[in-house]
Amino acid sequence: MIITRHVIPRRGSTNDSPVIIKSRNKMKSIIFIICLFQILISISCKEGSFNIGKENIGSISIVVPDTANSIVLFAADELKKHLDLVFDGNISITGFSSRNKFSKRFLVGIKPDDYSKKLNPEEAVYIVKKHDVFLFGDDAINIKYSEEHHGDLNDKKLNEVLNLSNNRTGTLFAVYNFLENELGVKWIKPGDDGIFYAKPLSVILTAKDSTWTPKLLQRNIRTEMLSFKIQNAYGQCAPKEFSVTKEESFKKYADLLIWMRRMRMGRSENFRFGHAYGSYWEKYQKTNPDIFALTSMGVRKPMGRIERVKMCPTNTELPKIKVNEWRDDLQKNPFQNSKSISGCENDSDGFGSDEWCHCDNCMAIDARREGEDLTDYVTDRYVHLWNAILKEARQYKDDIMVTGYAYENMLQPPRREKLDDGILIEFIPRMGGDFEVTKKLYEGWQEAGMKKMMYRPNDLWWEMGIPMGQEQRLFENFKLGIAHNAIGTDFDALMGYWEGITDMTYYILAKGNADPNATFEKLEEEYLNSFGEAKDDIAKYYRHWRNIFNTKVIPEELRLNNGIKTYFLEYGLLYRLTERIDEFYSLEDFDLTDSYLKTAAGKNIPDQAGNYIRRMQIANENSRLTFICFMAGRSGNKDQITARAKELISFRIKNKDKVDINWNVLFQAQYHQMKDQIGMRYLGFLPKDIDTNEF
Ligand SMILES: [Zn+2]
Repeated sequence: MIITRHVIPRRGSTNDSPVIIKSRNKMKSIIFIICLFQILISISCKEGSFNIGKENIGSISIVVPDTANSIVLFAADELKKHLDLVFDGNISITGFSSRNKFSKRFLVGIKPDDYSKKLNPEEAVYIVKKHDVFLFGDDAINIKYSEEHHGDLNDKKLNEVLNLSNNRTGTLFAVYNFLENELGVKWIKPGDDGIFYAKPLSVILTAKDSTWTPKLLQRNIRTEMLSFKIQNAYGQCAPKEFSVTKEESFKKYADLLIWMRRMRMGRSENFRFGHAYGSYWEKYQKTNPDIFALTSMGVRKPMGRIERVKMCPTNTELPKIKVNEWRDDLQKNPFQNSKSISGCENDSDGFGSDEWCHCDNCMAIDARREGEDLTDYVTDRYVHLWNAILKEARQYKDDIMVTGYAYENMLQPPRREKLDDGILIEFIPRMGGDFEVTKKLYEGWQEAGMKKMMYRPNDLWWEMGIPMGQEQRLFENFKLGIAHNAIGTDFDALMGYWEGITDMTYYILAKGNADPNATFEKLEEEYLNSFGEAKDDIAKYYRHWRNIFNTKVIPEELRLNNGIKTYFLEYGLLYRLTERIDEFYSLEDFDLTDSYLKTAAGKNIPDQAGNYIRRMQIANENSRLTFICFMAGRSGNKDQITARAKELISFRIKNKDKVDINWNVLFQAQYHQMKDQIGMRYLGFLPKDIDTNEF
């Protein structure tokens, strides 16, 4: 006999925990009576409630409009997928005209007749009534699928839904809010392995209206590390066993983008950032040579890669050229060009001060201090350029904005120039910098006129491939940005090391984007709760690594940097950390964390959590072997390095599909950024000429 227990939630709250009626096989009669009493109470209270369970799932349907767009269709697919998982059912999806065949309905992309409120961008709403649950939101397919330009996702529905930069998916978010708030579903990582859920016998949903509008108008973590292009480029550094077909790559990439949507990532508005002069040398070297930087060589031409040529920010032709290009773009593609123009300088190309502009006007405009060179400070000249582009562009559109980077030698606030109203700064602070210094940077920019900014850290790049425990530091850096008027985020970039390596970081960060008011403690608790009775053991596992990061790695990084330029948490400089790995990590760390995972795996937990922990154990063994290779690399003994590297690579080959690690990116990072300390060069699989320009 199966006896049920009801829990009645507060009415009208959007964050009620699921109303779950759990099955109990060994109930005593006294509990039966209490439960029966509760059922009677709940029946009398549940005027308007919607119940769903194994017994009635066949009489419920998901209803979509007879002509539905990709977003609504995908939202219905996702709702079906999760309801089927939770209730072991096979719920039907039907068109609106067939809705009356069913006594209860989930209406996706359909509003109640009496709903008249105008939706905010990306707003997601679900309304529970006695017979119907309405799930809808603000959707917009601004960039449609096209057979000629479909990118990596050659599927109309996926292509349109997973265009996170341009298309709005409020209806899909309504489905995810519903699944999370009402059924307790969580998405720990991409793919089916990452869906965590309870299996209640039935659930009673009380009548309610739930609405959610994102507080951040852009919520982004860059995902291109899973793109086919990167898999190929970075795969140069991996053994052939790790090469992926286009189809395999697309599947993983789509899974990641779906996870991003499940975490409610996306954009309400589209601002243009990004290096803005990459094609200028090819286009303007003959007609406008003076717009390029006068390098230390006394000529106006690129010192290295032409796409990284530096500009002369005080040149008066440059703003006109930029604005003319934008006017063309605006005509061709109004959606992507009506908000802003990117004025952001190209990345430096490794030539230090020499490649920046040395002309008299540029040199005169920067208020550089004694002892500083052009790699330390050039902010004033770029603020001057952004203002000039803004002034030029406002002649044609009075609300256009111009974007610029607070980054590297433009990270420090301008000392002489002020920002005109209409400049949007993309801020690139460092989690390895002193937060007091970061705070002063924000304040300095605010004093110079910065009203809003986009938060765009590179912090997710600093990964060795063994657990770093960076989640709290990284999250606090994000919160500091939120406290200084960040209107959106653009994290560069998700490396894709899940299952015990960086998974908690990705989860907490994504959830923080959806709810920037949430504390680290709340999100950590939410993540750990997924592991049920193994929660405390899993907490020990993650906190062990976090403790190393917070008490060893960060203090040393802070000791060696000035808050502006980081020492080893920096692109291409991670080898400085791995070559001193024994100062931060030891074999006991792996023994201890293995013991936590072993205890966790022995607990009475749902299958998803159990399987996840077993994959964490494989990942931790990979981490241990990687650490051993770092240590062998430190010794400098070729035989030792080779022997340890062989063990590591054969372990990775054997387990490559048993754990979710983005192998090609990991191999590239350990070869390129960590200077092959693990010794892959001795194993014979690396090609003779690796094209590092592809990185
Ligand atoms: Zn110049």
